[in-house]
Amino acid sequence: MDSHQSRRQFLQAGLALPAVGIVSSDRLEPVFQENPSAPKVVYRTLGKTGLKVTGVGYGIGFVPVTDVVARAVDMGINYYDTSRDYGESEKIFSGVIKGKRDKIIIATKSGRTKKAQILEDLDTSLKVLGTDHVDILHLHGRDNPAQVPDESIEALEIGKKSGKARFIGFSCHDVNNMVPFILKTGKFDVIQTTYGFPIGGRYREQAIARLHEAGIGVIAMKVVVALSGFNLKTVENPPARPNGDGPLAGIKWVLQNPAISTTVPNMRTIPQLEMNFRAMSERYTPADEKLLTLLNEQIRPDYCRMCYECKGVCPKGLPVADMLRFLSYNDFYGDYHRAIVSFRDLAREVRDVRCSDCESCAIQCPNGVHIQDRLIRAQQLLA
Ligand code: SF4
Ligand code: SF4
Repeated sequence: MDSHQSRRQFLQAGLALPAVGIVSSDRLEPVFQENPSAPKVVYRTLGKTGLKVTGVGYGIGFVPVTDVVARAVDMGINYYDTSRDYGESEKIFSGVIKGKRDKIIIATKSGRTKKAQILEDLDTSLKVLGTDHVDILHLHGRDNPAQVPDESIEALEIGKKSGKARFIGFSCHDVNNMVPFILKTGKFDVIQTTYGFPIGGRYREQAIARLHEAGIGVIAMKVVVALSGFNLKTVENPPARPNGDGPLAGIKWVLQNPAISTTVPNMRTIPQLEMNFRAMSERYTPADEKLLTLLNEQIRPDYCRMCYECKGVCPKGLPVADMLRFLSYNDFYGDYHRAIVSFRDLAREVRDVRCSDCESCAIQCPNGVHIQDRLIRAQQLLA
């Protein structure tokens, strides 16, 4: 593919190319390089949508740091993920992208399930974002087919038909559980799922490959969270950090998989942004593997991989993997607000259980997470 082809295809997707070195194609073959040693924007195709997305996108999160988002847009990162469920996220983001809408791809999500609610969320998102369409409309956090009733799919299709959403999909943590449903339904253009070196990487590869083969664009989330060396639980006595390159290595690991179109790490500082940006054009190395292996061991007892391979069932009905994830929002993202909002969405009878009342836990983690200790901490912190 030459640069003219690349530009034409990109413009066909309704976007303009940024003025930086560009690498394109699923195989990461260079198109042109102004400076071979400089980090470059790399595009991948988002499944059958045909959208050319940068391998490193941006998870806007609850409270985006506007200077960092603006710099990312200027650097050419073109994929931005937000949600109606992230408080002021869309509103703050809208202030950054004024006059730049044609340079970026926006994905947003609705956490609701009824047709009218989802369509209401879509209209609100458009109003708040200051745009007449989003590129992708997701249902937010669906890990069970029962969470995707027919009327929610109908809402997505209405949104798509009206032109308010160009493409549709949903986000999930347990893609293995959802793949048969996704393929049988045949309605979704994209799926966003957890995928990363410690986070269920090997558990999810087959499922992701099946989606890719079906032409469904796959977006990886929660790619770097556990790899920054940040663990609030041990902040008084932080573990030795071999260096700060964990997130870079983590994104490079994910981008080795050609079935992944883009990633959506949250970035809060310019150095974080610049480091993540490099992951698009740097190769994954044995040193990266060594670093990730070391970091993976450091976080082993505390970080739930979201693999859903827990052995046993809680007799008191706790959704263990979900609760561990909520605690991770605090301990690994440093986002207490998100942790407590998620925890308080649980049913009252679940929130009232105290794991400290059990002599031992009925559930074992094959990855070595200390489940009972972690849940006691979650209940002390969030209940
Ligand atoms: S507790 Fe362990 S087995 Fe269960 S989801 Fe987390 S990492 Fe997987
Ligand atoms: S310790 Fe918690 S998760 Fe484990 S069995 Fe008891 S209530 Fe369930």
